[in-house]
Amino acid sequence: MGDQLSAARDRLFDAARKTGVECELLETLKYPQETLAASIPVRMDDGALKMVKAWRCRYSDLLGPTKGGLRFHPSTNADEVQTLAFWMTVKCALMQLPYGGGKGGISVDYKSLSQSERERLTRAFAERFAHIFGPARDIPAPDVGTGPMEMAWIADTIGQVRHEHVPGLITGKPPIAGGLEGRAPATGQGAFLVLDTLAEALGVADGDKTIALQGYGSGGRHFARFAADAGWKIIAVADSGGTAFDAEGLDLDVLDKVKADGGSVVDAEGVESRKSDAILSVEADVLVPAAMGGQITSDTVGALSCKAIVEIANGPVLPEADAALRDAGIKVAPDILANAGGVFVSWLEWVVNRSGVPMSNDEVTKRLTDRITARAKAVAQKAEELDSDMRTAAYAVAAEQLDKALVARGAGS
Ligand code: GLU
Repeated sequence: MGDQLSAARDRLFDAARKTGVECELLETLKYPQETLAASIPVRMDDGALKMVKAWRCRYSDLLGPTKGGLRFHPSTNADEVQTLAFWMTVKCALMQLPYGGGKGGISVDYKSLSQSERERLTRAFAERFAHIFGPARDIPAPDVGTGPMEMAWIADTIGQVRHEHVPGLITGKPPIAGGLEGRAPATGQGAFLVLDTLAEALGVADGDKTIALQGYGSGGRHFARFAADAGWKIIAVADSGGTAFDAEGLDLDVLDKVKADGGSVVDAEGVESRKSDAILSVEADVLVPAAMGGQITSDTVGALSCKAIVEIANGPVLPEADAALRDAGIKVAPDILANAGGVFVSWLEWVVNRSGVPMSNDEVTKRLTDRITARAKAVAQKAEELDSDMRTAAYAVAAEQLDKALVARGAGS
């Protein structure tokens, strides 16, 4: 078992013990239920053949069909995919969704591929994994490096393989291909709702309302909009090109434009430019990591200058840094809550696809707001009950939900 997965699992196990959950649950979740590994040939535009490694992990289907995204990134590996699938298991339980947890990925520098290479690779991946995907079995969605376009290619390829239209086997599709308008902003919107609901518990209700944001992809960009509309000031945004800083608050329209033109946030006119990793030490009420995992380690905690962290990325704080953050008095709204808006609206998309009954944008927003607010409050209440941080509380709430399912279903022979 990989180091990342065992560290992630220990976090759940510690929380579960605190809340008195059955030890059979911990045994059941000890290992991933199933991980499929494949190598896939892809023909490059110059005629060369390239092999890439790919995985799909169905960590646990205790609560329902496995659900979770597809990550196309050079650093993707089996340990990371299994860890992300484990987190999806816990996240879906916390959100009270009828889903288990899964994740998939390809180890590839996807950004550097041409559009036609991307399409060939994505369709080859879909064909290779077609037998594992299904609306009642395993339902992929976007993650780092993938978006609506890839989801549409995958749905189309599997439709051709099966000779039938099954939109409910994948979520995060473009609206014209069976997706929901509200899915693209959902992760950022959910993170903002968590910040808004927990502002007091995070100790940022009465501050200057300043935010430092690491990552300006789909989650980060939408979060920034919702936060700015509610009066928060986005004073720093980082991407791989650097950190853009403006103490008066950055102009998001300008950032969106430079990003749409393929530039970095530091190309925006009038911003102060700093190095990428300078984002972590920006003095702001809230630091929002919305890029890759493993950004905040026991070594980097000392450099932080924020009161609270809202995790949009999966796993931005390494388990080794949890204690140091507690000692420093920095409160954390954990990833499995703060970024769960995405999978929640994925569930609505799946419900619409399977029932054939449409849902309005207003209804999507209302349901997301009601559910994520309620789950955030449940986490805050559990944290008080256990006298713990919010991550431990979120894991404890999820463990109780999973345990109920195990008791109801039975653990097997
Ligand atoms: N990849 C997202 C996550 O980590 C969304 C998963 C989904 O919509 O199924 O939560």
